[in-house]
Amino acid sequence: MASDLTRDKAFFAFSPDVAPVLRVNQGEEVRLETHDCFSGQLKTSADTLETLDWSITNPATGPVYIEGTKPGDLLRVDLLEVKATGPSVMVAVPGVGTMGEQITEMETTILKHTVDSVIFKDRIEVKQKPMLGVIGVAPAQGEIPNSTPGGHGGNMDCTLVTTGASLYFTVGVEGALFGCGDMHAAMGDGEVVICGAETPGEVRLRASVVPLAGLPTPFLENGELVAVITSAETVDEAYKLAIARMLEFLTDVAGMPTNDAALLMSLVGSLKFCQVVDPLLTVRFEFPKSVLKEYGFELPR
Ligand code: CA
Ligand code: ZN
Repeated sequence: MASDLTRDKAFFAFSPDVAPVLRVNQGEEVRLETHDCFSGQLKTSADTLETLDWSITNPATGPVYIEGTKPGDLLRVDLLEVKATGPSVMVAVPGVGTMGEQITEMETTILKHTVDSVIFKDRIEVKQKPMLGVIGVAPAQGEIPNSTPGGHGGNMDCTLVTTGASLYFTVGVEGALFGCGDMHAAMGDGEVVICGAETPGEVRLRASVVPLAGLPTPFLENGELVAVITSAETVDEAYKLAIARMLEFLTDVAGMPTNDAALLMSLVGSLKFCQVVDPLLTVRFEFPKSVLKEYGFELPR
């Protein structure tokens, strides 16, 4: 793939102060390479976190300045292709992740890639479903390290952030200053050990402003469903936020009566974990597009 941005064009915090490395027009296809979350430092099982340069972890490629975007705009990013190029790496680290107390030995394992799978320890074949862990725009002010998810996007580690999905963000600064990285060739919901199959990759996407008010962001759409993605210090806070945001979307944006929205959220909606291992924890609430359509609502295209 000919790239507009190679993976060395990386930044480590979403901020209005990081200078853009590429300017694109709305609707223009952008091709970019991404590093794995360790910037390719773990190449063999002998490379462990003990020797890692932490200052270059969680790189995102960019920032990309999207012409004609201004604070408050709703930006839709269409992921045309999310492709893992491999190999992938995983780590188990004592004291880290949800099983840090049980894990006593530090381990790095490299996963080979076939055309559409990753191979765990030459034994278990896992179908690839490449996704981007980090994706977002600069906040209006301040600096948010790429390790941290939030209202701007960031390290959400949501398995739905894959080929065919569209992400919606609220633009914080002129040009949006978009970036993405931290691709996983495969990952389970929760990311419980602290990582997925961390892989370098290639992404094709396009971004444009959508004339729609009140969409709670970050927001995701794919062929089947829409989802709100929320992050907070605890899972309790995160899920309450996700439910409140989805209810707000269904009533205020999609025009459903409150009780219909609430009942349908319980009937056909799904609350799911994205990740429980980052500085803030992330969940999502999914709702089927077919039901939105029954209510006469479709997201503008
Ligand atoms: Ca991540
Ligand atoms: Zn990752």
